[in-house]
Amino acid sequence: MDAEPTCKACGFSYVIGLKEDEERHARFHDEEEYGPMSYMNDGIYIVSLENTQPLRHMAEQAFRVGNREAQYDFALFMADEKSTNQPIAAIETIGGHAIAGVLTRNRSCEYRTSLEEFELCALGGRWRPKRGEAIEPHNRRAIEFIWVHKKYRGEKVLDGCLAKLTEHIGHPISEFSHSLPFTEAAVKFWRKRSLGSIYIAQSWTEHLGDAQDAHLEACVRLLSER
Ligand SMILES: [Zn+2]
Repeated sequence: MDAEPTCKACGFSYVIGLKEDEERHARFHDEEEYGPMSYMNDGIYIVSLENTQPLRHMAEQAFRVGNREAQYDFALFMADEKSTNQPIAAIETIGGHAIAGVLTRNRSCEYRTSLEEFELCALGGRWRPKRGEAIEPHNRRAIEFIWVHKKYRGEKVLDGCLAKLTEHIGHPISEFSHSLPFTEAAVKFWRKRSLGSIYIAQSWTEHLGDAQDAHLEACVRLLSER
C-alpha cells in the first residue's frame, strides 16, 4: 500500500486504496463544495425531535458541518438525542445538500443586554456583553447556533430559515434569546436586525473546552455585576 499522501487542496492525510479513508476524504470535499447530503427535496424544513429520522438526520449533518467550522468539540444536535430542552431547527436544502441551519432550544434566561455593549473577549476569542440587566429568570427559546454554507453567505438564505422558524414558533425574532458564547457573526446578526437590546440565554451546559469555559465564566461575572 502507498505511503500516506496529503491532499494538497485540503491538507488531509489518508491511505490511497483504503476505501473508508477515500470515502471520508471525498465526503469532506463534497461537503466543502455543496454542504452535507440532505436526501430531501429543495425547501426549508422545521425539525424537532418529533420528526421522523430523515429530517433529524439532515439536521444532525448540517450542524456537524457547521460545528466543524466553529470548532466546538461537542455535537450541536443529534438525530437520536433525548433532550429535555426541546430543540427546534430550520434547515434549508438545495440540490440534495443542506446549506443552512438555525438551531434553537429552550434555555433559562436571566439577562438582557444592549447590543452596543459587546466587546471581543481575549479568553476564547469570542464576543461578550460588557454588562447586562438582570431580569426575572424564565425559560425562553434561544438561538443557539446559525450555520450558512460558505457559498451562500451574504445571500438572503438566512431570512428564509428565520421566517419559517418565527412562523412556526409564533413570536418575532426580537423575542428569542441568544446563547453564550457569541461569535462576531452572531453580534453582527443581531445588530443587523436593528434591535436595541437582546435577551441572553444561560450558556450551554456542555463542556466547551477550557478556553471557552473560562470565557463563559467571565461573561456571567460581567452580566451579574451591579
Ligand atoms: Zn482533500
